[in-house]
Amino acid sequence: MPPTGRFAPSPSGPLHFGSLVAAVASYCHARSQQGRWLLRIEDVDTPRVVAGAADQIQRDLEAFGFAWDGPVLYQSDQFEQYRHYLDRLLDQGDCYACECSRRGLREQGVRSGPLGQIYPGNCRHRQLAPEGRSIRLNTADARLIGFSDQVYGGFELNLSEAVGDFVLRRVDGIYAYHLAVVVDDELQGVDEIVRGADLLENTCLHLLLQRKLDFASPRYLHVPLVNNAQGVKLSKQSGAAAIDHERAPQLLLAALRHLGQSADDAMLQAKPEEILNRAVAEWNTEAIPARLAAIAETFGS
Ligand code: GLU
Repeated sequence: MPPTGRFAPSPSGPLHFGSLVAAVASYCHARSQQGRWLLRIEDVDTPRVVAGAADQIQRDLEAFGFAWDGPVLYQSDQFEQYRHYLDRLLDQGDCYACECSRRGLREQGVRSGPLGQIYPGNCRHRQLAPEGRSIRLNTADARLIGFSDQVYGGFELNLSEAVGDFVLRRVDGIYAYHLAVVVDDELQGVDEIVRGADLLENTCLHLLLQRKLDFASPRYLHVPLVNNAQGVKLSKQSGAAAIDHERAPQLLLAALRHLGQSADDAMLQAKPEEILNRAVAEWNTEAIPARLAAIAETFGS
């Protein structure tokens, strides 16, 4: 069965070169296996959404030659689904309500790990009512969760020690990215996830959630991040420039080179669609470098 892949940007600003790399990789990986490629706008964290960014992202993708299958899914239309699966976890006894604040935990000297504060489970057995409180997943029995990444190989994390009980719904009622992404990938039939290497650790959380919800786990392929000249990951927060439509061929070729793919400068005159078609035909996952990040030759500015 051909796989279903997806690109899932957060609309907190326009696409930058780092997000273009994730789009190119997920597109080529799905299309090279005759698979579907979906577009999902990850606007679950509504206060962080920038007005107009979701439309801009779609215009950017079109200008760069991408065509996605089916309608665009907006996470802001999915809250009923997230509530349904969160209720299931609560009913199963996998989740609990918590009234600890981040500041309170800091004052208690709670340690931090790769994904922030490691919640020690203070409220785990208090049986607080969920309304108006954050909801956490009990990771006490999670321990080592691992997977085999198609680029980075074996990767594992001791969830109960390195992450602790993580939040699935914040106290302000916003569902966590971890819950949203796991539910959406399941409901959309996504079985081939390609995304930036900054999410390697997060994948272990997603595997645990999939297990608790009885979902099949997709295959994962993470790609090296793009750093700017100062060695900082390109992101909207680090002020990465929006990708310039006028330079689409050059930026697509640079993204392919960052992914270790062949990218012939003779294609500089080609249409973006042609560059992507060629990249799909020549896509080689074994050539993707297994380093976590690299400075790319261009940042799109
Ligand atoms: N929305 C996430 C981001 O923009 C990507 C999540 C994913 O691909 O799973 O970083």
